[in-house]
Amino acid sequence: MSFEELNLNPSILRAIQEAGYTTPTPIQQQAVPELIAGHDIMASAQTGTGKTAAFMLPALHALATPTQIRSRGPRVLVLTPTRELALQVSEAAKKYGKYLPRINVVSILGGMPYPLQNKLLSQPVDILVATPGRLIDHIQRGRIDFKRLQMLVLDEADRMLDMGFIEDVETIAAATPATRQTLLFSATLDNAIDRVAAKLLKTPKRIQVSSPKSKLDNIEQRLHYADDMSHKNRLLNHVLRDETLKQAIVFTATKRDADSLADNLYAQGYAAAALHGDMNQRERTRTLTRLRNGGLRVLVATDVAARGIDVADITHVINFDLPKFAEDYVHRIGRTGRAGAAGIAVSFASVKDGMNLTKIERYTGQRIASHTIPGLEPRIKPRSPGNGPRGTPNVTQRRKRSPFAGHDSRPGFGATGESGRNRNGQRGRSIDADNRGNSFRNSNSNGNRTGYQAARSK
Ligand code: AMP
Repeated sequence: MSFEELNLNPSILRAIQEAGYTTPTPIQQQAVPELIAGHDIMASAQTGTGKTAAFMLPALHALATPTQIRSRGPRVLVLTPTRELALQVSEAAKKYGKYLPRINVVSILGGMPYPLQNKLLSQPVDILVATPGRLIDHIQRGRIDFKRLQMLVLDEADRMLDMGFIEDVETIAAATPATRQTLLFSATLDNAIDRVAAKLLKTPKRIQVSSPKSKLDNIEQRLHYADDMSHKNRLLNHVLRDETLKQAIVFTATKRDADSLADNLYAQGYAAAALHGDMNQRERTRTLTRLRNGGLRVLVATDVAARGIDVADITHVINFDLPKFAEDYVHRIGRTGRAGAAGIAVSFASVKDGMNLTKIERYTGQRIASHTIPGLEPRIKPRSPGNGPRGTPNVTQRRKRSPFAGHDSRPGFGATGESGRNRNGQRGRSIDADNRGNSFRNSNSNGNRTGYQAARSK
């Protein structure tokens, strides 16, 4: 199928051609015709599938026809869980809409000054991209008129649910015309998402594109339960001494944890170094070059810094801390098994990580087999599968267990965002993806804790 066959406005086709796209991706092939026909859709599609264009192209196509409704308010509203995603969506709207006359794209994000946002909202807006919390503030102050809103897009709805934004999303949706077209994108379409869709969408078409599972087929995934930090350090030491390990990336939750763990490993004689977002570009490049030319055996990294690393000799990925988002798990373990080679992904989890594990397994569609090492068995036994966090929870379990309550009560559950209410209705504030979590890290090889890591390493 070609883009021409999608019957998009010629000005949009010109921008697509300029972007270098030749063929619509599967999600675009399925979603665009449904959206042009005016249907609501709920689609399971991850980042990287071309989902942004899948909704932005039909949105722009709709905007090419002038509206008769007199208002300055947005005609398209996109809600995203994070600022980063909102900015990406805004950029995409500008890129694909550059040849359409006067498409005004405005981003309203948490953490940015109100006076500037007030000014942006006082002008006619075509596409508004927003994180829910801040948008609610503006709605409550009467600054947004949704009279001419035609399309509401919920991007990464599963993350908005997990980050506690769904109540806000519902409030926002209630402020928009019932005649709107509603689109929901989510990594997975599960019961919780179905309930959101039942409230906000009208007889939606379901669209499913292939799961990330196939990408992981050459990677053996192992799980080790760890009682505490000392246990994690001993398990790590064991994995790193494996002779089949050529090079490894060890993932930690925060930048400071990456530094202290790398120092620790270096002190134990490993060719180890850290890679994270606080390092300047020169330091990062130097570390990556060392990794590429084999001068480093162990790279200790955070999610953001390690994205896109493509080094053939990485035989092992070790999740010293589990990622908070299932999507990050797939990105992380995809650093091994490059170019068709086999790879091993080892994850350390405490019994409190149950909800996280469940989310990862649901996302990948694969169960991670738990392993023990003689002499390093966990003292605390995890709950049996299907009877606790590792089994796919039923609706009642999901309702009772908030992702915040599942492992600990720290607020940093998510990438850069703003405050939201979790499924238990508590307000939380999400922080930078590189800085999630507070934890003990520095233990020496005897397992004695030598330091304490504060909540945020900013
Ligand atoms: P997304 O899943 O929306 O985050 O998009 C992932 C990447 O795919 C972005 O960098 C887009 O620019 C790119 N992309 C989207 N659609 C296409 C397409 N049809 N052909 C090639 N690249 C695309």
